Amino acid sequence: MPIQPKAKYGVIGNPVGHSRSPLIHRAFAEQTGIALEYTAILAPLDGFVSAVSQFRIAGGRGLNVTVPFKAEAFALCQKRSERAQRAGAVNTLIFPADVRGDVFGDNTDGVGLLRDLAFHHIPLQGKKILLLGAGGASRGVLAPLLAEHPACLLIANRREKTATALTADFIDLAHNTQLQACALNDIPAEPFDLIINATSASLSDEHLPLPDSLIATNTVVYDMAYGNQPTIFMRWASAHGARAIDGLGMLVEQAAESFYLWHGVRPETQTVRPILRCR
Ligand code: NDP
Repeated sequence: MPIQPKAKYGVIGNPVGHSRSPLIHRAFAEQTGIALEYTAILAPLDGFVSAVSQFRIAGGRGLNVTVPFKAEAFALCQKRSERAQRAGAVNTLIFPADVRGDVFGDNTDGVGLLRDLAFHHIPLQGKKILLLGAGGASRGVLAPLLAEHPACLLIANRREKTATALTADFIDLAHNTQLQACALNDIPAEPFDLIINATSASLSDEHLPLPDSLIATNTVVYDMAYGNQPTIFMRWASAHGARAIDGLGMLVEQAAESFYLWHGVRPETQTVRPILRCR
């Protein structure tokens, strides 16, 4: 019998070399006995659509999408889940076997973040949250964050306009939450319960110009970025007494949700987290 080629999946982004998604999906594949190939694809900043098209022609069946292509991925889909539609950003693409068939897009970032915050026992209801960044990742996590009814959610972005647009898009979901926007350098110098860094500044080791007074004794700081060492943002937070957590757990949880969408099997995540810490 001829050997069937393995189904092709991957993560596409720029940069993408840092991504642990290939390790995670290979671990899930081993755990569930599903044969697949999962690779990291570096797309030129102006070449996302053609890189996706080449992947599909080569037999690709699904892609995770990372920085900075989530909005382009959204635009490329003919069909989208409700949560992707709401977010205006797609991090999971599903391709039918027929290369001319409709592309389906979903967004698993919100589920990933919420599951990881729960894993770390971080409460959200009635809390004061600062969300830094207004890109694809922020769009993906806003609806699930608001569903937890924080008291206040301030979105601060380098380009204030983008943060303001984001609050306008989600204001109808802010039932018990004061949802506001400001520029990164206009954040009020008062403490928050939870500060989430959804900017990509940590990827280039860039320090965010934030007042130290954002941090109080109980502040938890969550950087969606991750690496072998604590990120520059986590180091700043720890130096001021905050509990600092990186985005590796979120990555594993959002990957598990993508894996479920592609293969119909929900992998177990607890055993995969420590494997990644060792790499
Ligand atoms: P986008 O490119 O869509 O958005 C980037 C955001 O970062 C924008 O708000 C941008 O601001 C801001 N930004 C970039 N550089 C700087 C800087 N030097 N100083 C201040 N702000 C900056 O990226 P994503 O939203 O897709 O991803 C953001 C981060 O979240 C990345 O680090 C990514 O790796 C991480 N992530 C992690 C996940 C996980 O599972 N752990 C899942 C999703 C994302 P402006 O609008 O002004 O340009």
